[in-house]
Amino acid sequence: MALIPRPRLCGLIYVCISLSELGPLTVVDPGSSTQEFGEECRLATVEGGEGDGGVVDGDAGVVDRDGDAGMVAAAGARVTNLLPLRKPSENNTSTYNGEPDSTERNDTSHIISEQKLKPDLETERVLEQYSLRPRKEEKKKEEIYSEKKIFETIKAVEKVPSKTKDLEFGGRIGTFMLIFFLPATVFYLLLMCKQDDPSFMNFPPPLPALESLWETRVFGVFLLWFFLQALFYLLPVGKVVEGLPLPDGRKLQYRINGFYAFLLTAAAIGTLLFFQCELHYVYDHFMHFAVSAAAFSMVLSIYLYIRSLKAPEEDLAPGGNSGYLVYDFFTGHELNPRIGSFDLKYFCELRPGLIGWVVINLAMLLAEMKINNQSTPSLSMVLVNSFQLLYVVDALWNEEAILTTMDITHDGFGFMLAFGDLVWVPFVYSLQAYYLVGHPTPISWPVAAAITILNCVGYYIFRSANSQKNNFRRNPADPKLAFLKFIPTATGKGLLVTGWWGFVRHPNYLGDIIMALAWSLPCGFTHILPYFYVIYFICLLVHREARDEHHCKQKYGLAWERYCQRVPYRIFPYIY
Ligand code: NDP
Repeated sequence: MALIPRPRLCGLIYVCISLSELGPLTVVDPGSSTQEFGEECRLATVEGGEGDGGVVDGDAGVVDRDGDAGMVAAAGARVTNLLPLRKPSENNTSTYNGEPDSTERNDTSHIISEQKLKPDLETERVLEQYSLRPRKEEKKKEEIYSEKKIFETIKAVEKVPSKTKDLEFGGRIGTFMLIFFLPATVFYLLLMCKQDDPSFMNFPPPLPALESLWETRVFGVFLLWFFLQALFYLLPVGKVVEGLPLPDGRKLQYRINGFYAFLLTAAAIGTLLFFQCELHYVYDHFMHFAVSAAAFSMVLSIYLYIRSLKAPEEDLAPGGNSGYLVYDFFTGHELNPRIGSFDLKYFCELRPGLIGWVVINLAMLLAEMKINNQSTPSLSMVLVNSFQLLYVVDALWNEEAILTTMDITHDGFGFMLAFGDLVWVPFVYSLQAYYLVGHPTPISWPVAAAITILNCVGYYIFRSANSQKNNFRRNPADPKLAFLKFIPTATGKGLLVTGWWGFVRHPNYLGDIIMALAWSLPCGFTHILPYFYVIYFICLLVHREARDEHHCKQKYGLAWERYCQRVPYRIFPYIY
């Protein structure tokens, strides 16, 4: 822990007065995690410029963890002062950021009122320490600002139910249309892919008779698949970890066994193939499978919405509690619907759809060999299968990382995620493999090598960016991350400004998009259809980035704005 100099009184007063003006002044002790900040009231040296204790970046309050004694940068401030640090749980953005951007969310309303009360209290505590008032007055102050009173006030605010006012996805009309538009898009893409000339100029493709879209046997196979994955999920293998704290402070437990589920699935598929089970059945009935999955996801979404009506207020999703049926049905009303310890959202996120995607790809590879009478799959098919297999295995290997994503922490479980996980991911993401079965695209070895390098570059950026942030979030004091600089925020968490997160604000999205391009390139340039994935993915991640930006601005206030100044590009360097 850094040695902290005693304050001078004038400096103390200056800090107390300017506490709400200077911005997020925080003292960082290298070697101690940001979570430890503010466990006690500490004294610190505030310098603009190079200080003795560490390197100071006077521009943006950036912490360089290489410094010996930690440092604080405050725009232009040059005072030696006392600075009480805040507890990490105290989201005191408003102390330096004026009014919070929004106060409508369920989970943050009580925190915001807490923020409003804290600055005064902290200033008073500091002043009291230095006996600036007669004792009688001190006692009075103690009564006024007693913890009990604050607690009562916060509790009173907590009880006020608040609704989601900030509607996304085009609000009620937008979400209503998406409920029809998303399934229609999937069926359109699959119908197009079956055409000899899947050009968008040939719109609309010939529509099949309605009754030909349903096959009960296929629905049975789908159910078998879903419940087999549920069984694997329930197996008592793999560690159990805690998720991030919920708005009411609880932490849910999750079993991390996705990778085991993948291995068991691989063993099951291998056994089926050994016994001559024809996997290209999936190719022959691809549309039937998509219809079955869509019907299942619709029924699941209706069940989720009905059960969410009985869920306690604190279990509702911050973004799916508008009170509008269609909107809440689409975005998901309940945050973490569970049957006992079985977490429906967590299960659907990575198991039936994601593992199903790999199985579908394999089925396409076998179908290609059979239909085209090939003894080996084409190079294009091998590339698509390998790249996407790597992506899925990576997601399952790093399953724990999903617990900090927006899908788990913010979005409820409704039609959007149920349809996305069970239909969109397996049937749209496998479009390149499906396309290659009917549209063989020979590529040369040098082209294949170039595409492989592109995929590796994308994967490297994606993985190292995600790992850098995940490791930093898990243990900010990790010596392996000592070379990284970050901006401290009032929540106790830091925002990385060097490394990948200093390159662009979403380096992981950049890597993901590069990989998406590499998955489409083996399909050649004859049609745009196999490029649907990369085009859609750019739109998805640009929209997702905007949503995340909005949430981060609410969470971090001025610190986030400083981060945006330091790292101006969102996803594509020098472009966007
Ligand atoms: P991210 O992993 O991008 O995380 C965003 C969060 O990171 C922010 O809310 C903030 O949370 C934290 N953060 C932001 N900036 C910084 C910083 N400078 N320093 C430290 N922390 C920071 O979220 P997503 O869930 O969107 O993406 C996860 C992965 O999943 C990505 O790789 C993405 O490409 C991929 N993905 C794939 C999809 C697919 O269909 N294939 C769909 C969507 C995502 P906090 O501060 O609270 O920690």
